[in-house]
Amino acid sequence: MARGLDILGDPWGMLVLREVFFGNGRFDAMKSRLGAADSVLTKRLAALVDAGLLARQPYADGGRTRQEYVLTAKGEDALPVLNAVVLWAEKHLPAPSEQSHMFVMHTGCGARTTSADSCTACGERLTVRNTSWHSLTRTPDPVPLAAAPDPAGTTPHANGAAS
Ligand SMILES: [Zn+2]
Repeated sequence: MARGLDILGDPWGMLVLREVFFGNGRFDAMKSRLGAADSVLTKRLAALVDAGLLARQPYADGGRTRQEYVLTAKGEDALPVLNAVVLWAEKHLPAPSEQSHMFVMHTGCGARTTSADSCTACGERLTVRNTSWHSLTRTPDPVPLAAAPDPAGTTPHANGAAS
């Protein structure tokens, strides 16, 4: 467990991962969403790249090429950890407001799951490809999660500039 916490035990690191799962992997968008200082964000992104959970991917920004952050397969595998944090908080911590809730949805059957690694309604294992997160402060509808880019080089499933 200590080895895992070296990577997954840092609050800023987990919030950075949350943003990338939400498809929000561009530095400026993450910075504005998290309200983090550049140095805080830079350090966590570097640590998550070093640990192999995130990868840098170029994208065209007007005439410039910039880097955005995408999940790797190893990063995708952290989904149940983040789901568990969301579900535990929903179960045990009071929400500051009605808008503060966040739900984990299995898009395969449309149910809201209360289990981190499989759908409580139908039993299917949850992956980034069949899971949406619904943060009421972010969007009126659940957001399908981002996935690691296809190794064949096709366009990754991402949500663009979700903010
Ligand atoms: Zn289901």
